[in-house]
Amino acid sequence: MGRILLIYTGGTIGMKENHLTGALESVDFKSVLMAVHEIREFDVDTVSFDPPLDSSDMGPKQWRKLAEIIVENYGKYDGFVVLHGTDTMAYTASALSFMLEGLRKPVVLTGSQLPIGKLRTDGTENLVTAIEIASAVYDNGEPRVPEVSIFFHDKLLRGNRTTKSSAERFDAFHSYNYPPLAHSAVDIEYNTAAIMKVDNVDKPLIPHYDMDTNMLVMSMFPGIKADVLGSMLSIKGLKGVILRTFGAGNAPQDTAIANQLRQATEKGIVIVNITQCTDGNVEMHRYGTGLHLYEAGVISGQDATVEAALTKMMRLFGDGMTADEVKEAMMHSLCGEI
Ligand code: ASP
Repeated sequence: MGRILLIYTGGTIGMKENHLTGALESVDFKSVLMAVHEIREFDVDTVSFDPPLDSSDMGPKQWRKLAEIIVENYGKYDGFVVLHGTDTMAYTASALSFMLEGLRKPVVLTGSQLPIGKLRTDGTENLVTAIEIASAVYDNGEPRVPEVSIFFHDKLLRGNRTTKSSAERFDAFHSYNYPPLAHSAVDIEYNTAAIMKVDNVDKPLIPHYDMDTNMLVMSMFPGIKADVLGSMLSIKGLKGVILRTFGAGNAPQDTAIANQLRQATEKGIVIVNITQCTDGNVEMHRYGTGLHLYEAGVISGQDATVEAALTKMMRLFGDGMTADEVKEAMMHSLCGEI
């Protein structure tokens, strides 16, 4: 069992009901930990965001803070567990996977649908299992899961493949296009073949802290007007667009729409095609309704999640890449996201 740093950012797991308003509010982390006696079984140090945040308030600034905590403590700990609100956990996990290039230690995010301390809470089990996974090593001392992952309910999922799929079920996260990295039942069964391999143990951890937020996520819908699309694509400073399309990457075959997209890509805006379906791949050559997007300069996001495609593009532009370099990099996997 390794030494773990537990980073508390906030979320339901550490909230209590305000008796006056009935709304859930964050409480201090010490009282959360007091309720989880099992933690004493592990070698865990803790650090907390002050104040703890609902995950709707997490963004590039907080991702950077998280990445900095991990980088500063990288040599001292064998793994990291991040307690996080569920709403944007998949964005944070995706962002961290791109910000921490060359990661060779586990970073496991978890949270809960019910606060710790509440009857029937899922928080205790999620937290304890996440710590167990983050501290699991092979006989030679190498970590079992050297990547950014999300543990929730009974599954460990690759962080940049995960999406929040339910606002109320305990089984709240899914990875539709990639198998779970582990299942937790009586034993924790690791899917070794699916877990990231560490290719070069001497490679240093390279942090990428800057995220460029000149991005837009937009959905195609039947009846979308070309001038609505055009005004969004004319936003000053816009660099990247995640275009959520139908099925295998399709959109209405309206010349005015195609023209708006072409003008944007010719200006150097990178437009990435991601399907609105929960699973499957974008294949713009399959139908005429996809081909015209390809001809307008839209690139395929393949089977990436919106969370992964967005945070990847934020990081690539944050690195100072040109639009052409970003386009090229978006087509290849950086850390298992496609
Ligand atoms: N609103 C909460 C959050 O994301 C929900 C949760 O933690 O489940 O912070």
